[in-house]
Amino acid sequence: MNRLKVLVAENSGICFGVKRAFSLLEESTEEALKIGKRVVMLGPVIHNPRVINDYARRGVDVVNIASVPENSVVVVRSHGVTAKTEQILQSIENVKIIDTTCPYVQRIHKLVAKQSAEGCAILVMGDKNHSEVEGITSRISGDFFVIHPSEFGEKEPELRDFLINHKSVFAVAQTTSRPSNFEHLLKLSRGLVRDLPDHKILSSETICTATLKRQDSARELANRVDVMVVIGGKNSSNTSKLLQVVMEKNDSSIWVESISDFTPEQLAGIKKAETVGITAGASTPDYQINEIKDFLERLDECSD
Ligand code: SF4
Repeated sequence: MNRLKVLVAENSGICFGVKRAFSLLEESTEEALKIGKRVVMLGPVIHNPRVINDYARRGVDVVNIASVPENSVVVVRSHGVTAKTEQILQSIENVKIIDTTCPYVQRIHKLVAKQSAEGCAILVMGDKNHSEVEGITSRISGDFFVIHPSEFGEKEPELRDFLINHKSVFAVAQTTSRPSNFEHLLKLSRGLVRDLPDHKILSSETICTATLKRQDSARELANRVDVMVVIGGKNSSNTSKLLQVVMEKNDSSIWVESISDFTPEQLAGIKKAETVGITAGASTPDYQINEIKDFLERLDECSD
């Protein structure tokens, strides 16, 4: 009799943007390989070593901008690239670009390009070293200021100067930001120029809630199961964050990339449990989640 209940968090695994990138990659790979064209990814489309290795076996390599081959099909990642990288790609002989930049990121590109062309300075909340933020700032034609929530205190004097020096400011946030941090930044910024009535700070809602929803679902499930399994690449920062979130609620949480990662002690612990929860990072395709779910369900049958 099946005693072990295996539950998958409501929001887990790949988001809409990565799913879209993944199917565009698959479609273009199939088409290009049929006609003998080379396909390359400009940076890994997905932070999942198993998926990247599968593509490598089919001849699809990860390259950087300096090594994009001529006459190839180049797949651009969902975070997007800088305007300069786009120009370089377009200048390479006979290259077909498959742009999988997430529509939510593309929207920010358009917003900042338009607002800066109309004379607004741009305030960007995010990590200045993240490729999404680099792509955003590369499309700003005028002045801009980037601030991460962890810098709100130390960078406040610089932020004040930036706001005082620009009468019209337009604010956006990196898609994976916390809405409460952006609200805080807008409040702080408006407070800094409250004595300057001709200064205005406008903003647009640019945060994608996929990451937050995934964390909320994982937290909720971790609360009501005996053991929690987090699936995702060991190089994936959002998976490591997911583990942190579930660990706060359930210290019997395990991080695996695949079935072979379970240790005998972990499997023994799972066999004693009544309920196991599963969540997965943003780069874990459904088939990898199902593989582990089936394995855990069968594990219980074997132990009877
Ligand atoms: S997290 Fe959101 S913005 Fe980022 S790729 Fe996924 S859907 Fe797009």
